[in-house]
This record gives sequence, structure tokens and C-alpha cells, in this order.
Amino acid sequence: MILDDQRSTDPDCALGFIRPEWPAPPNVKAVVTTRQGGCSIAPYDSLNLAMHVGDLQHRVLANRQKLRQSLDLQREPPWLNQMHGVATIRADEKGERLADAAYTDRQKLPCVVLVADCLPIFLCDRQGMRVAVLHAGWRGLAEGIIAATVGRFLPDDDLIAWLGPAIGPCHYEVGAEVKDAFRSEVGSFIPTARTDKWMFDLYGVARKLLAESGVRAVFGGNFCTYCERERFFSYRRDGDTGRIAALIWLD
Ligand SMILES: [Zn+2]
Repeated sequence: MILDDQRSTDPDCALGFIRPEWPAPPNVKAVVTTRQGGCSIAPYDSLNLAMHVGDLQHRVLANRQKLRQSLDLQREPPWLNQMHGVATIRADEKGERLADAAYTDRQKLPCVVLVADCLPIFLCDRQGMRVAVLHAGWRGLAEGIIAATVGRFLPDDDLIAWLGPAIGPCHYEVGAEVKDAFRSEVGSFIPTARTDKWMFDLYGVARKLLAESGVRAVFGGNFCTYCERERFFSYRRDGDTGRIAALIWLD
């Protein structure tokens, strides 16, 4: 049973991490958690990392501790208070930390966002000097969270991006409120049989907005959190549910 023991102590296996496939420099580390490997019970089962969703605090803290140990992080990831807005902060900024994006040029300081359907986007420069992660729902995308986060890098930085697990166009039905917010992106709205309802392609809009911000090397973007019940929490699918985390740091 040596094999089983090895499997159960392999942190990646136990926690089911997703590691982006993108041409980031080797010192850039990035991970997206899944819902697997934690201690929370339904409807937060099991690796819920968010305090604000109704889960028991001691379970969330235990999950966060397990995450930190698995990634061998020297300090607790500096969690944000996400607002579905466009505020970006340095990852080690003090205070209320009301923001939807974090960036850093310091080593071993994770930038982290929590998501369950919204789109997490990793950014780094090809030299491996600066990294960022942002949390993008439709509102943040419409208001400019991508441009705001890209603006934290240096003008000459050659950036690459990776799109993490979000709700896919197969399941993201939206109304006129969302469509009206993206007047120039009509190609990302697929008509449905219902009047004033469209299937919305978050990934497509994100790619377009990244390109407009000068980021054309974009990877990932082939998930649907709603479809993949085993791996992901989905707010649209389940309502009361947990959150996964997307973390990036310089090693
Ligand atoms: Zn889907």
C-alpha cells in the first residue's frame, strides 16, 4: 500500500490543483485550487477558501492552512475584500484591501483572488519581474478591471495572460443589463430562444479587452465551472457554495 500512501500525501493530488499551461518564466508560480481536498461540508464541500459565504470559520481556516502547507508558502496569502469593481492594490497593501486585483514585484508574496463562476486572470511579464491576478465578473470587465491591472505593470513589459476557470458560454445566460454594458462586444453574446436573454462569453470578452490593453499572448480559457461539478464551485449552479482560489507569486 506504499502507492496509496504516496498518493494521499502528495499535496497536488489531495488538493487537485490546476497549474496553468502557459510560457511563464520558471520563477513565476501559479495555481488554481479546485473544490477537492478540504474539510468543509455541503454546500461548501470541500476546499472552500472564502469566509464570506456562510461556511464555518474554523473549517475555512483549516482549508487555508492546508493550502498554505501544500504550496509551502512562507506566509498566509493576503486575501482581498472583493467588490466586483476595478480597484487594484499591491499584494502587501495594508488596510481594508477592497480590491479585485492584486499585483507585486516582491518575491514569495502571493497575489490571490477567490472565485466561483467569475473569471480569474493571471498576468506576468516575460522577464518574471512582476505578477498579478484579477477577479473579473461582467461588471468588473465592463468597468475596466483588465486595463486597470495591466496599468500596474511597466509600459515596456511584455505581458502574457492565462484565463482560469469561469462559467462558460454554455451556461452563462445574461439579460439586457449585461449586453448593454458591452455595446462594442456584440460578438460575445449568443442569442437564445428567449427574448432579451443571451449566452455570454466571458472568455471572449476578456481576450478582446486584454488585446486592447496590449496583451495578445493569452492562454487557458477552456473551462466551465457550471459544467464541472466535481472540480468547481458555481454560484450560478448552486447559489450557496464555496469559492476556489487563484494564486500567483514570484519564487
Ligand atoms: Zn457550462
